[in-house]
Amino acid sequence: MTLQELHDSIKDCQRCRLASGRTQVVFGTGNPHAKIMFVGEAPGFYEDKQGIPFVGAAGKLLDELLEGAGLSRNDVYIANVIKCRPPDNRDPMADEVETCKPFLLQQIELIKPKVVCTLGNFAMQTLLGKKVGIMKVRGQSFQVKDFFVFPMLHPAAALHQGNLNEPLRLKSYTSGRVRPDARACLTTPQSRPTLKA
Ligand code: URA
Repeated sequence: MTLQELHDSIKDCQRCRLASGRTQVVFGTGNPHAKIMFVGEAPGFYEDKQGIPFVGAAGKLLDELLEGAGLSRNDVYIANVIKCRPPDNRDPMADEVETCKPFLLQQIELIKPKVVCTLGNFAMQTLLGKKVGIMKVRGQSFQVKDFFVFPMLHPAAALHQGNLNEPLRLKSYTSGRVRPDARACLTTPQSRPTLKA
């Protein structure tokens, strides 16, 4: 199966209650051969309208973060755990995660990234299968099958701490006990040749 075929297969998904409130399924965007993937929680208002993950305020910050690391959206792949917007942006429910998680895992299997940067608690807990807090694990990396999970703060969390300037934000994302291969994807382009396609 290709990524496009997977997308087509869930365009009209009716497997859970979120189908009734969404405008469209927000599958994912970016380079289908990316070595670095970013995974957020679920689409919000703007993502639901445009069909693209991270296009609202948090997305702008994610774009800045990528730019600061010498990357653009074309270098990475961005998706969410949940593909349909929960009403009023409520947290996804456990059964919604169970229903949608296989599609994220299939995306990862097809894209074959080396590093999956989870944005926030929700994506981190979903991929690591642990109930740990993001502040404990951010900046570390965890091998899951044949890729590393690299938990990062959700950009919306950084947005709420408006006193952080850009270099600090980037530092807060990249500091900590990070394996060199995971750190490389968020530092300078010269230092990540092994992550190039
Ligand atoms: N927050 C997310 O987790 N995902 C999006 O696509 C937008 C905001």
